[in-house]
Amino acid sequence: MKKLFTPGPLNTSAKVKQAMFVDVGSRDLEFTNAVQEIRSHLLDIAIVDKNNYTTVIIQGSGTFGIESIISCALKPNDNLLILINGAYGERILKIATTHHIATEVLRFEENELVNPTIVEDVLKSQPHITHVAMIHSETTTGLFNPIATIGKLCKQYDKTYIVDAMSSFGGVTMQVEENNIDFLVSSSNKCIEGVPGFSFAICKRESLNQCEGNSPTVSLDLFEQWKGLEQNGQFRFTPPTLAIMAFQQAISELVKEGGVSARELRYRNNQQVLLKGTRAMGLEEYLPQEIQGHIINSFLYPKQPNFNFDRFYKKLNDKGCVIYPGKLSKVNAFRIGNIGQLFEEDMNYLVKCMIEVFEEEKIVVTA
Ligand SMILES: *Cc1c(COP(=O)(O)O)cnc(C)c1O
Repeated sequence: MKKLFTPGPLNTSAKVKQAMFVDVGSRDLEFTNAVQEIRSHLLDIAIVDKNNYTTVIIQGSGTFGIESIISCALKPNDNLLILINGAYGERILKIATTHHIATEVLRFEENELVNPTIVEDVLKSQPHITHVAMIHSETTTGLFNPIATIGKLCKQYDKTYIVDAMSSFGGVTMQVEENNIDFLVSSSNKCIEGVPGFSFAICKRESLNQCEGNSPTVSLDLFEQWKGLEQNGQFRFTPPTLAIMAFQQAISELVKEGGVSARELRYRNNQQVLLKGTRAMGLEEYLPQEIQGHIINSFLYPKQPNFNFDRFYKKLNDKGCVIYPGKLSKVNAFRIGNIGQLFEEDMNYLVKCMIEVFEEEKIVVTA
């Protein structure tokens, strides 16, 4: 079986895959119970008071969840400030523009964090802004944006706060209520280690209630989706039954591992093992260490003219290691993820394979 050193879909455990070896009806009690159990667990992971927050599960990939929130949370006279330092921030802008939502955009370099001082200046001087959206773990590079600091500003200036924590939720302790987040979105196939099939939104009830009657679409109506789930644990349209059964198992394994903090330690250790190897090889990391998260790393292409990414990728793939191409706007890089069912031995194996491929390709990075 191949090892996926990617930001998702990721390797899942045998039991997670086995959980899909059942035919379960969308109205079966077994299924609707799984849905409600998952919704409740997600609130525990988000560290929120269940009286103040609720979960909505949305069929489709992560982007469907973002589009559901962005399209439902803003009313005609509202204005969304989007804080962008990578491709996923740009994606939020594309969604907002497609839905004819008025936006303000603050762009930062791909190798720098969203700067709270600049954000505060904008919030002060542009009171027509009603909502703020940003990415926590910008998967384009692997940096972690300062969601807590921006959350404080949103509270101070009374803005609705939307966070895309797709690639980090479940792999980083995240205080959703404490950080004043109104809507946080993630998906089934990232750090919770389930299979692809749905996204989920952790929503402040007060903010979700304001979405009623506001959706421009039927299928991505966040409020109606919530109402359906609340009434009977049922989805309005065909649910991803097997992905839900797998996710229920994935959550129980997260708990067994010791919760989010234990998982974070495993991922951090994976990263340390990886970086020890890549540094010894002379590979250069794209981000400064201070802003690097532990989900995924970007590495610059070696400067040797004979380095060919497609060949490098294919040769690693043939050895069972799937890495990830880069998505940077200005430099050539590739990415390696530390998440999913990956352990120290897998990271060591990847490093060994990279060294072998470099030798075959006659690429010498070390001086
Ligand atoms: C994975 C990811 C998404 C969602 O991508 P999909 O392909 O729609 O699942 C969104 N934002 C970030 C930061 C991600 O890492």
